[in-house]
Amino acid sequence: MAGPLRPYTQIYSDVDKYGWGYFGFSLVLVLLIHDAYFYWAHRAMHHPRIYRFVHRTHHRSTNPTPRAAFAFHPLEAVVEAGIIFFIAFLFPVHAGVILLFVLVMTVYNLYGHLGWELYPAGMARHPIGRWINTSVSHNQHHKHAHSNYGLYFLWWDRWFGTLHPDYESAFERTTSISC
Ligand SMILES: [Zn+2]
Ligand SMILES: [Zn+2]
Repeated sequence: MAGPLRPYTQIYSDVDKYGWGYFGFSLVLVLLIHDAYFYWAHRAMHHPRIYRFVHRTHHRSTNPTPRAAFAFHPLEAVVEAGIIFFIAFLFPVHAGVILLFVLVMTVYNLYGHLGWELYPAGMARHPIGRWINTSVSHNQHHKHAHSNYGLYFLWWDRWFGTLHPDYESAFERTTSISC
């Protein structure tokens, strides 16, 4: 991060300062925090009083393509960028972790709007796979806006009852067609 705020953040550039173990750990932590932040910010953006000002632009498509990953209102971009500032003030983050985080976020966002599924059949009911967000899940979010708010993981949706009741069946149907 450049500019006058940089001295107040905990961004560092020498990996040896905390080691590679911390480098990997902090990347996982950043993704977990972003996932929680995204879920609740996304749910808030679907509130009837806020929705049309911020998030409606992204929902113009009910069957999205990767282009939808970048189709959002400028205010939504501010909401998303906010997490970088929050994290950088909270704990030490290597500049490379920020780059990797932006890369993972972009790739996962593209995958979510792909329009077809890359994960294998059985994933949605697998003991581990059931916690991972999928393209089928986000496609459902564009069809039925009041479910499937998650980004990387599905635990917030599962814990708070916002996972679409037909998600697991829809995943099986989609993956059995494409195989
Ligand atoms: Zn949405
Ligand atoms: Zn979307």
